[in-house]
Amino acid sequence: MKLEELSTERLIKEKRRIDAELLKRGEVMTFEELKAEANRQGYNLVKKYQPMPKLKRCPICGSLAYVRYGDIFYVACKKGCLIGPKVSRYNKVQSKSKLESEREAREAWNEMVEKGEK
Ligand SMILES: [Zn+2]
Repeated sequence: MKLEELSTERLIKEKRRIDAELLKRGEVMTFEELKAEANRQGYNLVKKYQPMPKLKRCPICGSLAYVRYGDIFYVACKKGCLIGPKVSRYNKVQSKSKLESEREAREAWNEMVEKGEK
């Protein structure tokens, strides 16, 4: 059956049937297939591995900095002269993973140091 031969009405019905068919197929798509399809469409379902940003040294004394963990993450100078922006793991809407919080705290510290350098 060629689609060209169908009336508009039949064509719409045919399209709906195909869409339903695709939807049905989508439900049984394996994760690998879904990933391949998403990649083809330009999505990236799998987070690419990103190393933790390396901490810049304290802009005041030049000491190493370290990450403080907890409900609030932040980076601080080992000698105690400076504390970076605080990243809260929890707010009313969501909670962040520890890795995500650490990354944010590290990025915020580095950004602060970079701004100070300019
Ligand atoms: Zn310092």
